[in-house]
Amino acid sequence: MLTGFEYHRPTSSRQCSALLHELGPGAKVLAGGTDIVVQMRSGGLRPAHLVDLAGIESAAGIVEDFEEVRVGARTTASAVAAHPTVRAGFEAIAEAAAMVGSRQIQNRATLAGNVGNASPAADTVPALLAYDAQAVVAGPAPRRVRIDDLLVGPRRTNLEPGEWIEAIAIPYVPVHGSSYLKLGRTRGVDIALVGAACLISETSASIALASVGPRAVVVRLEGSFADQASLPDGLAALVRAQVSPIDDVRASAVYRRAMVEHLASRAWVVAWQRLQQVNAA
Ligand SMILES: Cc1cc2nc3c(=O)[nH]c(=O)nc-3n(C[C@H](O)[C@H](O)[C@H](O)COP(=O)(O)OP(=O)(O)OC[C@H]3O[C@@H](n4cnc5c(N)ncnc54)[C@H](O)[C@@H]3O)c2cc1C
Repeated sequence: MLTGFEYHRPTSSRQCSALLHELGPGAKVLAGGTDIVVQMRSGGLRPAHLVDLAGIESAAGIVEDFEEVRVGARTTASAVAAHPTVRAGFEAIAEAAAMVGSRQIQNRATLAGNVGNASPAADTVPALLAYDAQAVVAGPAPRRVRIDDLLVGPRRTNLEPGEWIEAIAIPYVPVHGSSYLKLGRTRGVDIALVGAACLISETSASIALASVGPRAVVVRLEGSFADQASLPDGLAALVRAQVSPIDDVRASAVYRRAMVEHLASRAWVVAWQRLQQVNAA
């Protein structure tokens, strides 16, 4: 049994922010618990307080607005992967959510937790970066911050004490195709050796990558790529320049570097084919 911390369950966003502010850096947010409980069990993390989001209604569900879709901080990866609007309009995000661990993990894990945990291997992060999604940050001074600016390094975000992610806001992209592909060591549940998200619209293209450095990276190019069935050389060069994979127990840096371009190229083809389907519909 886990001991040595105090459990809190605020019932509103305002109460949650006030509590986190009052408790300071010793307090950690608890969403699905699929990362934080594992870290506490292993002894890697010993928060004095856990602030559970489970009682906060405003952090539940998926809201479709005129310009964006907002995924509340309590919304599970399963709910995201199954949501009709996400599946139809944000394919890479639905695909990435469906690759977070097993079904059991997806039934608890959240997108905000995947971002808040700031693992370089997080699956939903490249997909969110490709869409240039934002974190809706609650706290003493509510703000919005691009996920790209929120992530600082391994397990580090620029959230201040007292701040937490109330939702992830994903803007609609008019005509586009997107995809997320993941390379693991096995066909089953595994952390990404490399993950690649691609988004191709009528005016720009993005490739975002996981497990290629201290944090996920995204590269974007403006232009029309409608007749570009394979990864453009300019984007491939940007990808090569951005990644700095490391050797670890799961793969060598050399292997990862070779796989980055391969996976990015495959993600491009899938996204491009989807763009053709949208244009043909
Ligand atoms: C067996 C197993 C397999 C896994 N496989 C994968 C995988 O394939 N791909 C993958 O990406 N991940 C994987 N994970 C990791 C984990 O499931 C995901 O990172 C998940 O999205 C975390 O979400 P959560 O809601 O459970 O976060 P929690 O564990 O509740 O929190 C994680 C961290 O984020 C912070 N946090 C949570 N919510 C917020 C918020 N709203 N605002 C600010 N900070 C917040 C917490 O304080 C904590 O530091 C796996 C985990 C396990 C145990």
